[in-house]
Amino acid sequence: MKKYDFLIVGAGLYGAICAYELNKAGKKCLVVDKRNHVAGNIFTENIEGINVHVYGAHIFHTSNKVVWDYVNSFAEFNNYINQPVARYKNELYNLPFNMNTFTKLWNDVFTPEDALKKIEAEKTAYHIDEPKNLEEQAINLVGPTIYEKLIKGYTAKQWGRACNELPAFIIKRLPVRFIFDNNYFNDRYQGIPVGGYTSIIEKMLDGVEVRLNTNFFDNREEFKNIADSIIYTGPIDEFFNFKYGPLEYRTVRFETEILNRSNYQGNAVVNHTEFEVPFTRIIEHKHFEFDITSPKTVISREYSTAWKPGDEPYYPVNNDKNNDLYAKYKEEASHLGNVHFGGRLGQYKYYDMDKVVIEALSKIKELKDNE
Ligand code: FAD
Repeated sequence: MKKYDFLIVGAGLYGAICAYELNKAGKKCLVVDKRNHVAGNIFTENIEGINVHVYGAHIFHTSNKVVWDYVNSFAEFNNYINQPVARYKNELYNLPFNMNTFTKLWNDVFTPEDALKKIEAEKTAYHIDEPKNLEEQAINLVGPTIYEKLIKGYTAKQWGRACNELPAFIIKRLPVRFIFDNNYFNDRYQGIPVGGYTSIIEKMLDGVEVRLNTNFFDNREEFKNIADSIIYTGPIDEFFNFKYGPLEYRTVRFETEILNRSNYQGNAVVNHTEFEVPFTRIIEHKHFEFDITSPKTVISREYSTAWKPGDEPYYPVNNDKNNDLYAKYKEEASHLGNVHFGGRLGQYKYYDMDKVVIEALSKIKELKDNE
């Protein structure tokens, strides 16, 4: 008899949902995380009374009612709608590209028809038959004005390379809206949990044994014998000692500052689209929760940086090389009957939080069905 039914590696959203559901079903679980806190990348920390999104801005959005009801059973969500603003030099524009953006870009555009004509005329004048890089592709899709001011610098900073050195396939579509609508997401449900994300995870882990500052690989042999099954939400390549080589990521560096003023930029998210400004975005955390009373504010500048092994992995780079590599690790994983790989690192996939909920709940269903 092993001491636990499940060892869950990672106290992020995926691991916490698994722990909650398995605990509810009467299974004995141990959750370990190498960080000194629970919640993984959705960790929010209270600084000066403000819930700070420590690993980058997190906005919950979904069109799936089951997912929405599920997360609402752990927290009340506010009615935050993501309406980012873009700053290009001394100009401010609404995002995503919509009538508010177009009327600001061109002073002779007043109606959807004006905007459509303007964009079509620009696209026709600069059309390139077979776009060879991202720059040519973007100009074909939205014309040079939107590209220059709102895409060129931001995308180059995100990828660490100029747009004319990036492959065209990175951008397949650039949605444009001919209505006055700054809501970034098209999803039916959207919001921020009142009190932050960490308390959701704490509720999920209530009654479950959790060990923080505990790296699975430091005691791998002991952990192998402690539980009947493992749910592993860390990087899949690390589990196999990188035997086929490391998977690549993009990473983000956050520079967080407390300011002695109540309101810095008037919006939660401001993208800086000009290349000469080194960061991609500034997040002002209090605006996620409509906080107008606290005298201070907390901002985070986000720098998109190249990743090297050992850095915090954020965004998987799902190009052919990495996808082939992942397929090898996945094949290897499929032979380990009692180890289940899940979450954004275990499955090497960029998952929004709603997809993580779906994935974790379907893993639980699979485990129950196989009992
Ligand atoms: P994680 O949160 O990464 O949890 C994995 C945990 O495993 C970590 O706590 C880690 O410390 C632990 N771990 C790893 N290896 C070991 C080990 N060897 N031993 C012990 N513990 C280990 N989604 C949205 O829906 N909306 C957004 O606005 C949004 N914004 C994002 C912004 C950024 C910058 C990023 C990077 C992601 C964003 N996401 C967003 C996605 C969201 O963060 C993920 O969907 C979610 O956090 C994934 O949860 P997870 O449990 O799979 O992974």
